[in-house]
Amino acid sequence: MNASENLTTATARPRRGTRRVDVAGVLIGGDAPVVVQSMTNTDTADVIGTAVQVAELARAGSELVRVTVNNEAAARAVPDIREQLARMNLEVPLVGDFHYNGHTLLSQYPACAEALAKFRINPGNVGGGAQRDSRFAAIVEIACRYDKPVRIGVNWGSLDQAVLARIMDENAHRTEPRNAGEVMREALVTSALESANKAEEYGLGSNRIILSAKVSSVQDLIAVYRMLASRCDYPLHLGLTEAGMGSKGIVASTAALAVLLQEGIGDTIRVSLTPEPGGSRSQEVVVAQEILQTMGLRAFTPMVTACPGCGRTTSTFFQELAADVQSFVRGNMPRWREAHDGVENLTLAVMGCVVNGPGESKHANIGISLPGTGESPSAPVFEDGEKTVTLRGERIAEEFKAIIERYVERRYPRKGDAR
Ligand code: SF4
Repeated sequence: MNASENLTTATARPRRGTRRVDVAGVLIGGDAPVVVQSMTNTDTADVIGTAVQVAELARAGSELVRVTVNNEAAARAVPDIREQLARMNLEVPLVGDFHYNGHTLLSQYPACAEALAKFRINPGNVGGGAQRDSRFAAIVEIACRYDKPVRIGVNWGSLDQAVLARIMDENAHRTEPRNAGEVMREALVTSALESANKAEEYGLGSNRIILSAKVSSVQDLIAVYRMLASRCDYPLHLGLTEAGMGSKGIVASTAALAVLLQEGIGDTIRVSLTPEPGGSRSQEVVVAQEILQTMGLRAFTPMVTACPGCGRTTSTFFQELAADVQSFVRGNMPRWREAHDGVENLTLAVMGCVVNGPGESKHANIGISLPGTGESPSAPVFEDGEKTVTLRGERIAEEFKAIIERYVERRYPRKGDAR
């Protein structure tokens, strides 16, 4: 069995039954594939800067892109950003992130409401007391008027204090009071569910609501989403909030999301990485895709398996070849995706020596086993489990990439050619 067959088998994870929400053509929930989202970090009022970053995220594979709508300039800019994207031939749906003044901005800037595909409201940040309900109702009413779905996004950093106080009070009267962590988790879930009920009371269809309840601790996130999943059938947006930078952010997000996705919980994900200074914002999209693809839930781009190397490989050539092949594949994907059905399922292996090289290479669609220290300077290539050629000399990298290109042409016919 090669890796593509494994992928097919693993996609049969038990999915939690949720409603399905249509966000400008992107389906979330039900039996739809788990959707990848991202968020810009530009000033939304900067139309060109934001459109360029949305384009970068969309081209990296983000299927929805969220922008903050935090003031009048940002609300005014949203339709212009939409227009800029249309000029770039990009239809990626935009999600507006509202806090504190969403009710005002959406009512004063109807073109903003219209240009957005979805609103995100944080019930902890719509205001306190009597204002809270009227502002929340105003946003929901606008969502109904423009037929926009809403994500009710609770966050433990801005948890609705009225709900928290009520849950704490109830807890104090329990014969066996829950601990502080359990109270916080219950308050998050209650805030999300009660807000969803209110949104339905105000007229929003149950098939127009998505929920999230983000925290920054892996164990809390898993516990909170298990609670949400057992208590409602709204689609759930997963993400570890403030995941952090570099490997910490990637590992923490992967640990949390993988557990939940494996249980069939989660209909859309975002990986909230802090970019390295000067780093690409689209790394969060690549990580989200890699989580889904390495779990066998979706395929986005050919995967390159490479061994870590050890004392049997004294040269760095196989590391360089693995990196070269990875960037060759990513660089060619926009072209391949247009022309070749199913190319995202291609699997590749670049291995450092004879110990696991031929075996791992046979499991991939195309694999190469480079010579380790003391081995004859030849590199057998395997295609669909069969050795097809042995490469030698200075041009191994170029010849291997040419083999990949020919395999893609042959194995994944051009769209429309397979009739
Ligand atoms: S395949 Fe060879 S070089 Fe790579 S880790 Fe295994 S033993 Fe080491």
